[in-house]
Amino acid sequence: MFCRIIAGALPSRRAYEDDRAVAFADIKPAAPVHLVIAPRQHLASLADLEEEDAELAGHLVWVAAKLGRDLCPGGWRLVANVGEEGGQTVGHLHLHLLGGRQLGTLG
Ligand code: AMP
Repeated sequence: MFCRIIAGALPSRRAYEDDRAVAFADIKPAAPVHLVIAPRQHLASLADLEEEDAELAGHLVWVAAKLGRDLCPGGWRLVANVGEEGGQTVGHLHLHLLGGRQLGTLG
């Protein structure tokens, strides 16, 4: 499904895009700023990352840092849900950038 969003076949509110990554607003935001950052290349999850994908993974983190700096000057959180037990519901690798309010501690 994210492949269709990335290709522009499904609408999204885009915050950033380049030749390797797209960032768009999560349809069910968990915070005032809640962006999904996904690679254009289809990978099912972080669990599918190979060494050759390390540069792409770094690029996604850089996109998150750039958006986090711009949109959440007080701080932000980067989350990746992996697999069913990890709470992943969409099978296209993505990061969640959350911010714009005080986030609770984990656990
Ligand atoms: P995850 O549960 O980590 O796989 O994250 C999937 C996220 O995608 C959830 O936070 C959903 O709210 C979000 N989502 C699902 N469909 C859409 C959509 N069409 N546009 C934007 N976000 C979506």
